[in-house]
Amino acid sequence: MKRLGTGLLDQLYPPTCLHCDAPVGTAQALCPACFRELRPITAPLCPRLGIPFEVSLGSDAVSAEAIADPPPFDRSRSALLYNAVARKLVSRLKYGDRPELAAFCARLMVTAGHEFWGAEPVLVPVPLHPWREFTRRYNQSTELARAVAALTVLPLDPLLVRRKKSTRRQVGLTADARVRNVAGAFVAHPDIVAKLRGRPVVIVDDVITTGSTVKAVTRALQKAGVERIDVLSFARVTVGADVV
Ligand SMILES: [Zn+2]
Repeated sequence: MKRLGTGLLDQLYPPTCLHCDAPVGTAQALCPACFRELRPITAPLCPRLGIPFEVSLGSDAVSAEAIADPPPFDRSRSALLYNAVARKLVSRLKYGDRPELAAFCARLMVTAGHEFWGAEPVLVPVPLHPWREFTRRYNQSTELARAVAALTVLPLDPLLVRRKKSTRRQVGLTADARVRNVAGAFVAHPDIVAKLRGRPVVIVDDVITTGSTVKAVTRALQKAGVERIDVLSFARVTVGADVV
């Protein structure tokens, strides 16, 4: 019956590519041309920041960025470099016009974060300010975290961290201005942290640019007593990457 229902839906709404809307054979997928444009981040990479290395420097070698400005979290991983296809997917995700998109992104994120799952972490999306969530009716980080939680069978807690002050959009701000913009913007709920009993946390975001937002969320969690914190995003901006 379910099969019949899906077949009927496919006839009414033939599945299309999540990026370019070309017809595709199965739902929840990109067409082959768009799929080839994706740039998955794979080893060798910086074990702290998850940024790709051109050549392998050995498993313990960390990036110059991680040495110059050590992140407050343990490890960060991202599924893809933020290029034109990734950007389009993220913008569609933001406005919720393709509900199956979060599941597609989450499958790539589960692979990127494979080192995290053995410790059975709790997933925590980067919160939007309540007013922004109300006007947009949708938090893309929560949708991604929900889809990752479904695939990994791990718990999700969207209430663990909340945004206590409204911040400007980070787009167009310098790295220093981004840090100032989000400093003190987040607070972790102490009662929920107490219930974690030392369980690690994975912060989930859609795109990491300078990392100032996920660092601010990390500091809020640390202040509330969380010790093991990793970060997972769908895409990440890297210097020199093709962001068209
Ligand atoms: Zn396509």
